[in-house]
Amino acid sequence: MKVVLLGPPGAGKGTQAMRIAKEYQLAHISTGDIFRQNLRENTELGKLAKSYMDQGQLVPDDVTIAMVLDRLQKDDCQNGYLLDGFPRTVAQAKAFDETTKIDVALDIEAPDELLVRRIAGRRMCSCGATYHVDWLNGKTTCDVCGKELYQRDDDREETVYKRLMVYKEQTAPLIDHYAQAGVLKSVDGAQDVEKVYEEIKKVLDGIA
Ligand code: AMP
Repeated sequence: MKVVLLGPPGAGKGTQAMRIAKEYQLAHISTGDIFRQNLRENTELGKLAKSYMDQGQLVPDDVTIAMVLDRLQKDDCQNGYLLDGFPRTVAQAKAFDETTKIDVALDIEAPDELLVRRIAGRRMCSCGATYHVDWLNGKTTCDVCGKELYQRDDDREETVYKRLMVYKEQTAPLIDHYAQAGVLKSVDGAQDVEKVYEEIKKVLDGIA
């Protein structure tokens, strides 16, 4: 199964992706995570990506497309994968269409006020777990692995608005792109995590 997860920042793509990947045994490919990993390792790709990420802008298409196509060659992708955060522009989608036919594009949507609230309060762990300050009760470490939580630089409020604008201008047109291809399914991301996952499962079980 080849799945693309669409949706604005804060819609819950990362959280849902971790669950889907585990249950359906799909490789979870998050372009944001790959860029952040490169950033931590201070690679050339990481340095380049940082200059865009810090501004809430997208990393250029050519770099991103090459990185994803390379990643999809790895063995763990042979049984299917879940793309979280790619494609994010029509150019990326078109380049990807030339190599692959996906089974479903799952669009998770939520209203802007909720997205801003979720992102600004989001705390991350390097193991992939995410939390919201409202539920942490002052705790600063990860329940899964015990490491210290942190706030992503681009989750600060001033960058969040920019990212939402970039989403509307550059990524939202993909909803039409995949609707026309007949593979779009939409899920209401304003519900709680369990409900969203139930809806996603119904869609995926209908395909598998
Ligand atoms: P994310 O973790 O998906 O929210 O991505 C964080 C940041 O990484 C984005 O704001 C972009 O700067 C960059 N990024 C992630 N995926 C892509 C992509 N497909 N194309 C361009 N930039 C991306």
